[in-house]
Amino acid sequence: MKVIFGPINSRRFKKSLGIDLSPNEKCCNFDCLYCELGKAKIKHKNEANLSVEYIISELKKALDIHKDLDYISISANGEPTLYPNLKELILEINKIKKNAKSLILSNASTIFDENIQKALLELDAVKLSLDSVNEKVFRKIDRSNINLSKIIQGIINFSNIYKGELVLECLVLEGINDNKEDFIALNEILKNIKASRLDLGTIDRPSDYDVKAVSFEKLQELASLLTNINVNIISRTINEKIYDDLLKTLELRPLSEDEISINDKELLKELLEKNIVKLAKINDINFYKLNK
Ligand code: SF4
Repeated sequence: MKVIFGPINSRRFKKSLGIDLSPNEKCCNFDCLYCELGKAKIKHKNEANLSVEYIISELKKALDIHKDLDYISISANGEPTLYPNLKELILEINKIKKNAKSLILSNASTIFDENIQKALLELDAVKLSLDSVNEKVFRKIDRSNINLSKIIQGIINFSNIYKGELVLECLVLEGINDNKEDFIALNEILKNIKASRLDLGTIDRPSDYDVKAVSFEKLQELASLLTNINVNIISRTINEKIYDDLLKTLELRPLSEDEISINDKELLKELLEKNIVKLAKINDINFYKLNK
């Protein structure tokens, strides 16, 4: 069974080696309208029967080959917190991860469970999805019977005790969860959640359901309503647009570090690595300039 995949390079989680806890079939307690894995029966238990020993031995082999990783990410063809020996696995990963950070990509469906919280506390980074704070909309998009207020309270409680990097993610679909009022309500709830950032995106790959992406302008409009958190707009096509806009601005003038949003910082890092941009210090302030 192939439980290790990658490394994958992404703007959000850089160079990341993945652990798939349900390699043979989708195993998820949600059935999201935007799921790239396709429609599947909802499951509340991971029955892949993978032992921690097996996963760790495969991970060790991969770590001998792949160096300089930024993250080791625990995911699944579905929801990774359904794996029964999660805490034991995380503790073993932490023993061998070297400089890489341990990360989980979860849909947040189990975050109110004390045992899951205890396991996730051991990770360097946790990504939790929150597509809507409106129960009706949440049921429509994530197609789950799990109580949304329990999930929200679980995220709040966890964020108050967690010391690592907590990232929230919201994926927006046209006409489903792109309602301004719901984003204003989300912003209120975000006052109580201590998270590093919220990644706001839309679909960029086909789904089995008939759903549509929202425009870049719509994402910007919704992001502007979220004043209680750093928002990072994500999408392949959207990032290309931001990339072009950033280069256009740099053509006109250098940018100081203070003028740069989180999104642009990630892109600038890429541009620095590619030698398209250089850093110049003026009066003790770092400026990004085009490398002409
Ligand atoms: S939580 Fe992730 S894996 Fe599960 S249905 Fe939604 S998109 Fe698919």
